[in-house]
Amino acid sequence: MRFGWYASVLAFTVLGSPASSQKTALSWTSQQAETLRHFRALVQIDTSNPPGNEVKIVEYLEKVLASDGIPSTRFALDPNRPNLVARLKGNGSKRPVLMLAHTDVVGVQRDKWPVDPFGATLRDGYVWGRGTTDDKDNLTANLMTFLLIKRSGAALERDVIFLAESGEEADPTGVGIRFMVDRHFEAIDAEFAIAEGNGATIEDGRVRTVQTATTEKVPRRVRLVATGTSGHGSVPRLDNAVTHLASAVEKIGTWETPMRLNETTRMYFAKLASISTPEQAARYNSLLDPQRSAAAQRYLAEHEPVHYSALRTSLVPTMLQAGIGPNVIPSMAEAVIDIRILPDEDLPALTAQMAARINDPAVRIEPMPITRPVAPPSPIDSAMYRALEQAALRVYRGTTVLPGMLNGATDMAQLRARGVSSYGVGPALTSDDFVQHGWHSDVERLPEASLYQFVEFMWTAVSDIAVKK
Ligand SMILES: [Zn+2]
Repeated sequence: MRFGWYASVLAFTVLGSPASSQKTALSWTSQQAETLRHFRALVQIDTSNPPGNEVKIVEYLEKVLASDGIPSTRFALDPNRPNLVARLKGNGSKRPVLMLAHTDVVGVQRDKWPVDPFGATLRDGYVWGRGTTDDKDNLTANLMTFLLIKRSGAALERDVIFLAESGEEADPTGVGIRFMVDRHFEAIDAEFAIAEGNGATIEDGRVRTVQTATTEKVPRRVRLVATGTSGHGSVPRLDNAVTHLASAVEKIGTWETPMRLNETTRMYFAKLASISTPEQAARYNSLLDPQRSAAAQRYLAEHEPVHYSALRTSLVPTMLQAGIGPNVIPSMAEAVIDIRILPDEDLPALTAQMAARINDPAVRIEPMPITRPVAPPSPIDSAMYRALEQAALRVYRGTTVLPGMLNGATDMAQLRARGVSSYGVGPALTSDDFVQHGWHSDVERLPEASLYQFVEFMWTAVSDIAVKK
């Protein structure tokens, strides 16, 4: 059914356009020049955060949208860091779909880069530059999808909303998703959202998996604070704050909380096993076998830490602070524990277990400011997930679609907490691209071919969910 529908929409799009010039303009190869032009222009606009200056991208997007007759609206807490929203109206029979991407990027150390980080240099089949994989790839795919749907003139059964948001990489003042959700939610309220998150993996020249994030772990960092008597370093004290803190950090850093799979991770490991070598498959399948689970988990901890993290709430010591001189016993010592809880974690119980484990009245646990709300996973059996799955199978032939839980946190957390089922997607990368040239690296780059496929994937999924059948 879906395949037949896709074929008919494509026929409509390519053949049903009134002007003959549009027939050629709407073939996928002829979208490439425009896609690349926008992508390079967006990468060339330096929006490193701080200070962001996302207004420069907003100005660019406003012009592009206006030239296709699409009005857009700025929403700004800080005029230099606005968010931009545009909407294609549907007939209202279904609730909207929201495509969002952030316009800021992390900073650069220019001298570490082999190319101009804001040059969008084309080299060896890649586009190089800050933001090429985070998040100007999604921004470009969203923009092209939005423009192509508008140009097709297709009747929509739900609104399609385009959101270019500021301040994702660092948002201490709340200019981005927080501002939109708290103050202008009506402008972006939707049944479904598509954002950055997972991506597709290339192996031996073909796209082996397409991962769609349905949920993520939630940051709930704490500070461990040990206090004791200050004094001279030549006189040992039983209440030495550094010693007490070190002991607490050791207990928390080596604590392995219970493994707990949810609907997403259960399906992820089962499907991954189905396309893995017999040895790997046996390991993923044995996670739920009480006899063999411990050995499998141990292997993942050593060799596949990203998978290991997906099994449980994790508590990772990341910062230590104590002392003012080699001969001074400080009265206080502090550590930061980066806790990432599973979406269904019982936080008060976890904190109580932590305190019991530390078991030291000299050490207190102080919660750090909350940056992301807890939200239930978005469903795997929704129309949006199915549309993404079908689009992936269509565009990346022979691939396997996996639902994913992100270990990191994204702006989807705020949307899910407001009831918007949100899915994270990204373009296809090799493992070398992921590991050596990934997000925030000094050699960030995106395969040019992956950009074009990603636009086609996004267009296919959003058309499927929004165009009237
Ligand atoms: Zn990002």
